[in-house]
Amino acid sequence: MNSITIALAGNPNSGKTTVFNALTGSHQRTGNWPGVTVERKEGEYQHGDTKVNVVDLPGTYGLTAYSIDEKIARDYLVTENPDVVVTIVDASNLERNLYLVIQLLELGQNVVVCLNMMDLARKSGMEIDHERLSELLGVPVVPTVAHKGEGIEELRRAVLEAAERRDLDQSSRTVNYGEELERIIGEIGEIISQIKTPYPPHFAAIKLLEGDPDMEELIAGEMKARVDEILKDMEEKIGEDVETYLAERRYGFIHGLARECVRRRPSLGGKISFSDRVDKVVTNRFLGIPIFLFFMWLSFQLVFKLGNPIADLIDAGFGRLGGWSSSALEAIGAPGWLGSLIGDGLIAGVGSVLVFLPNIMLLFLIFAFLEDSGYMARAAFVMDRVMHALGLHGKSFIPMLLGFGCNVPAIMGTRILESRKDRILTILVNPLMSCSARLPIYTLFASVFFPRHQGLVVFSLYLLGIVLAVLVARIFKSLFFKEETAPFIMELPPYRMPTPKNVIFLMWTRSSMFLRKAGTVILAGVILIWLLASLPPGVEYGSSQSLIGRLGHILAPILAPAGFGFWQAGVALTFGIMAKEVVVGTLGTLYGGEEHLRTALAHSFNPLSAYAFMVMSLIYIPCIATIAVIKREAGWRWAGLAVGYSLALGWLVAVIIYQVGRIF
Ligand code: GDP
Ligand code: MG
Repeated sequence: MNSITIALAGNPNSGKTTVFNALTGSHQRTGNWPGVTVERKEGEYQHGDTKVNVVDLPGTYGLTAYSIDEKIARDYLVTENPDVVVTIVDASNLERNLYLVIQLLELGQNVVVCLNMMDLARKSGMEIDHERLSELLGVPVVPTVAHKGEGIEELRRAVLEAAERRDLDQSSRTVNYGEELERIIGEIGEIISQIKTPYPPHFAAIKLLEGDPDMEELIAGEMKARVDEILKDMEEKIGEDVETYLAERRYGFIHGLARECVRRRPSLGGKISFSDRVDKVVTNRFLGIPIFLFFMWLSFQLVFKLGNPIADLIDAGFGRLGGWSSSALEAIGAPGWLGSLIGDGLIAGVGSVLVFLPNIMLLFLIFAFLEDSGYMARAAFVMDRVMHALGLHGKSFIPMLLGFGCNVPAIMGTRILESRKDRILTILVNPLMSCSARLPIYTLFASVFFPRHQGLVVFSLYLLGIVLAVLVARIFKSLFFKEETAPFIMELPPYRMPTPKNVIFLMWTRSSMFLRKAGTVILAGVILIWLLASLPPGVEYGSSQSLIGRLGHILAPILAPAGFGFWQAGVALTFGIMAKEVVVGTLGTLYGGEEHLRTALAHSFNPLSAYAFMVMSLIYIPCIATIAVIKREAGWRWAGLAVGYSLALGWLVAVIIYQVGRIF
């Protein structure tokens, strides 16, 4: 005969003893937990040919070793390893009770949720979708009214089924503590996994961050010093103690979970918190999206209205620096090529990139503010349905939005997504979001060829990128991720006043990535372009006889069907791979400087081919920095795919636009 052991865990007064009695009837023994005078109850029941031993754990709210009860419960679970842990959850007080469930899942227990007191929940006006709850948590959920015996049979059945499939992967169902903290949890877990402990390293790491005395006893000496250091760093960054932060994230997770599963009829009394009241409005089915769009509109207004004057200053500054340096070099008798390298190459090239810094920093500042205040999570919640229709996860939408600033941090931002499938899809289509580096290309061409409809033309390109992203995501999903669908929970952390430290930190990590790109990849690119445009020696700078010109001649016939089959366009696009900003700079160089650029463009392009060129610039190959970050986050295969598909798609769409446009 089979025999299994199950433990009952739950908050005090959740009905644990009542469930215990309902399961075991009169087959009970009482004793004490070893070493303490806390009552221990055990019992058993028969289910088919399986004997089920039931242990009633002390009532607890969590699994930190604060109280003797929590310690007993936790020690029992890790040392005795019961086959199933039945958590009794008071449905009428769902959110608070789920806190323990989350911790049991973190401890890696095989959990069955007994959703008790369903009668009280119903009476207070709550409708709980227990199937949805089960789907989201990834564990069985059985509704019961224990003192009437309702649902007890179903609970018995769920227990037996759960015992039969013991080793399931539960990783996707627990709280995501955010990129920074998850990294630290991983790091500390790594340290802990070197010592012998009955606790799963991930759980032990979290508890250690919470200052759990038992865990602190586990580590000593050098190890302890390392952990303390990591902890101190973290607290400095988030500006509050880690324990509070962890609890906040956990409640955010639970809050999101509850919002997905609980419908409240309005009759209910009781307190509604500030967060709830705000959420009622901003996540409202009808108001949510307009409110979100308003915030986005406002953000972009701020970014450009405040940023552009500063950008102009930087632009003028670099102009003056260029003039000043060339006259200074002349004065000291430096050779002409050096003046050209510094003036035409370094200063002009790097300057053309740094011009975007104010806009980018502002964008990241505003986003960091919205993120830290808790609004971004709501925006993701609101956009979830839309994103799902597009085959993406609701949370994908934040990295997509960041993509309008710069694809590099946006792709790093996909780390908030738990499922690999969602991450890869979001990463692959992210380059189709028109990053701020494409804006100068759009602005230049739109102002020359569509002076009266500039805004509309630029807007159409942004929109085209989004539409293509949707189509590409759908296609890739059906090609590569056919069967995987993971349910997910959108965390809704409480609203709070963003801390300046946190906001600045977030903004700075993202902006500095952009700066580094300007300092490395783009600098190298600028020098390479300058070299190719100056060689072989004696050739006129950037002429069609230079190396760069010859390269352009090779590309021209390939680009001809798209309407821009001349060597300068091919060269500009090639160098645009360094960074899209470089397209404008290269054209400027090739057409002999800023002054001649506009007239020269007006001769080479017509409005139709200009539009096709902008479309090509939008789609074809992400910049090197983006390719590098895709490779780092997803691997070479996906980076290769991103390059290949975007090149083919860019050419195809540009050709279609040009050829179809010519018919009219
Ligand atoms: P414990 O502290 O978790 O062991 O909780 P108990 O089992 O002692 O139950 C606390 C109280 O809740 C008792 O008065 C039970 O009769 C009552 N109770 C248990 N289950 C239910 C239920 O499903 N509905 C209602 N209305 N009351 C319940
Ligand atoms: Mg009890």
